[in-house]
Order: sequence, then structure tokens, then C-alpha cells
Amino acid sequence: MVVDIDRCTGCGACVIACAAENNVAPAVQRATYRTGVTLLRIVSIGAPDAARAAYMPMMCMQCENETPCVSVCPQQAVEVDKLSGIVEQMPQRCLGCRYCMTACPYHARVFNWADPAWPKGMEVALNPDVAPRMRGVVEKCDFCQSRMNAAQDKAAMQGTSDPGSYTPACVEACPTHAISFGDWNDPQGTLASGAAAHGTFAWLEQLGTQPKVRYRTGQPWIHALAKRGGAAPPEEVQRG
Ligand code: SF4
Repeated sequence: MVVDIDRCTGCGACVIACAAENNVAPAVQRATYRTGVTLLRIVSIGAPDAARAAYMPMMCMQCENETPCVSVCPQQAVEVDKLSGIVEQMPQRCLGCRYCMTACPYHARVFNWADPAWPKGMEVALNPDVAPRMRGVVEKCDFCQSRMNAAQDKAAMQGTSDPGSYTPACVEACPTHAISFGDWNDPQGTLASGAAAHGTFAWLEQLGTQPKVRYRTGQPWIHALAKRGGAAPPEEVQRG
């Protein structure tokens, strides 16, 4: 996934689409950004001179190298799918210890402090392809893996050769086309060739986790901010 920071207006369409696709229930009363459930958030970053600002959609970075959350899970509730590279979360195995939340350098994981509940009548609008998660388990973005599974099933039935072709909900919803998605391993594909041509960077690249989410911008101060490291940007402006 490549996010073009210069195109993001912080509108939050991706946040809403993500919540609807993944059956994320409305926040419980008094939920904070650390106790609510948000698989995708938009953070506001500012230049040191406070004269410029930008928005960054942030989600699970799908770390490739020594995936921190996989390494610490005592339940094998997280694993990297060998075919797609997606870091999969299996709530059925999660015991709620939250080691993975501590290990994740991107604050990409959230804990369900309550069972999900929807306003009366809204249950009929839930996505039948995604099981709601229960109280006591951790969850995170999985690049809309249910859509990938559906695409693979469809390809198998049709006998076509491109089983991995699908679009995550946030990519589909973005009105400015700020988010691109595709196969990094296809050098001719639009994602890999575009990323190489424009020079992308990973957030906290120096940690060596080799995130599969990359960012792009023409603004030098954002590159400097990303290189400087430290915690993920703290100021949050949107959440589901
Ligand atoms: Fe795991 Fe966090 Fe990396 Fe996602 S960003 S793979 S949750 S360590």
C-alpha cells in the first residue's frame, strides 16, 4: 500500500469505509482513542515551525521483518500469510494478554473492551463476510483480507490467473485517490513501479520492520520528520 500524503485532505472517508467494511461498532460511551476500536486513523502532523501541517492515514503496517506482534504472541493468534504477506489476526485464538499491543511500534492494534453493539435495526447492514469480534480480544487492519478471500474464490471458480486482485475499502472510498494498493512483487505493476519512480518511505524505517505500507510526499519536512524517528504522530484528528 502506498499513501500519498500530499493528496490526503483528512476528510475521514477511509475511516468510515473501514469501519463499515469491518463491522466496527459505534464507540461506547467515554471511549478514548486508546480504548475505542479504530483500525484506521488519521493523524495530523505539523512542521517544527508550525506553519505547515499534513494528514497521515495510519493502520497496521504489515511488518515483513521480524514482525513484532507475531514474535510476542503466546497463542499463535497472529501470523503472516505466506501468499499475500498480510499479517493475519485470529480473534478465536486471542486470550487478550495484549503483548502484541505493547510490541507494535505503530500503535496499530486495539483491544475490545466491550462486546460490539449496534443501534437497533443497524445489525441488518452488517457485512456478512466479516465476523464481529468479541470483548477481550485484540484486532487490527488486515488489508480487508475477506475481500482477498472472496477474490480468490471467484478466480478459482472462473479459472482466471489473478487470484490476488482486489481493492481494500479505504482505497475504494478515498475521494482524492491518495491510497494505492497492489502487488509489491510485480515490478511492472503500478504500485511497485510507481513507488520506485517517486521515492517512498516507511514510517519509523530505522526500526527495520520493513512495513508494507509506504508513504509518499514532496514535502522535505515530512521526510525529515519520518527520519527523525520517535513515536508515531500523537495528535489524532479522526477516528471511527
Ligand atoms: Fe504487527 Fe504492529 Fe507491525 Fe502491524 S504494524 S504487523 S500490528 S507490529
